[in-house]
Amino acid sequence: MPEIIIVGAGVVGASIAYHLAKLGCRDVAVLEKNYIGSGSTEKCPGGIRQQFSTATNIELSMESVKFFEHFEDETGHTADFRQHGYLILATSEKELENSRENVDLQQKMGLEVYLLSPQEIIELAPGLNVNHVLGATFCPSDGYADPYSVVSGFASAAKRLGVKIYEETEVTSIELRNYKVKGVLTTEGRYEAPIVVNAAGSYAGIVGRMAGLDIPIQPIRRHVFVTEPLFNHSNGLGGLNRPNLPMVVDSHNGFWFRREGACLIFGMRNPDEPEGFSTLVDWDFLAETLAQVACQRLPYLCDVGIARGQAGLHSDTPDYMAILGETPEISGLYHACGFSGHGFMHSPAVGRLMATLILGRETTPSNIWSLRLDRFRHQLQPRESMFI
Ligand SMILES: Cc1cc2nc3c(=O)[nH]c(=O)nc-3n(C[C@H](O)[C@H](O)[C@H](O)COP(=O)(O)OP(=O)(O)OC[C@H]3O[C@@H](n4cnc5c(N)ncnc54)[C@H](O)[C@@H]3O)c2cc1C
Repeated sequence: MPEIIIVGAGVVGASIAYHLAKLGCRDVAVLEKNYIGSGSTEKCPGGIRQQFSTATNIELSMESVKFFEHFEDETGHTADFRQHGYLILATSEKELENSRENVDLQQKMGLEVYLLSPQEIIELAPGLNVNHVLGATFCPSDGYADPYSVVSGFASAAKRLGVKIYEETEVTSIELRNYKVKGVLTTEGRYEAPIVVNAAGSYAGIVGRMAGLDIPIQPIRRHVFVTEPLFNHSNGLGGLNRPNLPMVVDSHNGFWFRREGACLIFGMRNPDEPEGFSTLVDWDFLAETLAQVACQRLPYLCDVGIARGQAGLHSDTPDYMAILGETPEISGLYHACGFSGHGFMHSPAVGRLMATLILGRETTPSNIWSLRLDRFRHQLQPRESMFI
């Protein structure tokens, strides 16, 4: 009988398992309905930024970036972490004002981050149309890593330390007695344990319902499109082929792009996307909405072919902040979900934090209790405004 069951072997479940084992708790079973990393983690382009509006998210990111910088020493795997920075555009006075406030808070917290003029923006991202752009924030230590390498790194390091990961094992119900966790039923049989961690990503609401809980998570489809290879045969697209091109984000509509090898990858949130679990690619969204925004901001994109598209799920909460910690009413049931598009970048800090919480050790940030599920009854938490 394991001491701790983790539901879900995405980047978050794998990181929690690794951090538990690293702290000496090796009797951990991770139950995964498909295969390791097969949920949102597999569809994520791996963006890692520290530019948030809330101190809690900035802190989670700053800790995680330090971990990603030493990921290979920790886990024996590369994360392929490229610190080319995030450039976040502001196109209205209100957005510029928010950028100033965010930079102020981020700098006070020790982050190297600047507010740039349109001319400075073009130097970092040639080919960008800066019409209507009033400024941008830039943090050079932001960047992106490879989600598959990261989830494999956490999972194999956890296994080396004794953690068991069971794939093709779907949790179908949670057993409770007197408001205490007793174990779970799965498609492969029953597992007993006094502690269960809900790290089921976009399905965390369904897992929560197995214990009678209403977890306010909206699964929302998001897309990533990949261009045909561009940089090895053309004119370099006006300088866009620089190897250290940052991740560029238009905070107004969420349009983003960055380099991926010889291609560009890009995406945007769809304001009309309904809640749901579909991960089919909506090519009409590309043709009717995204293409116009993309070509306006990055005119070179108008003339290139799209090699492929993929869609996965965000799990958004009402305040765009994660849900972390033990359920007050049910002893032994923990949640690490609702990452609202930030779960990959926060996975190192979240793994450490959840492991210390579960093992009853002192942890930081000390106000982490404000991310518990019951906050939605009181709305204690400031809302994150820098979601993409
Ligand atoms: C297009 C797109 C772009 C994104 N961009 C970024 C980004 O740039 N940066 C960033 O930080 N984040 C980004 N995200 C979000 C990021 O992918 C997620 O926050 C992160 O992967 C969450 O990891 P997770 O382990 O919580 O969830 P998942 O990776 O979804 O893992 C949950 C696992 O639980 C399993 N599971 C579910 N129910 C059960 C059950 N009943 N029994 C057993 N197993 C179960 C699933 O199969 C899954 O493998 C993006 C997401 C998408 C879709």
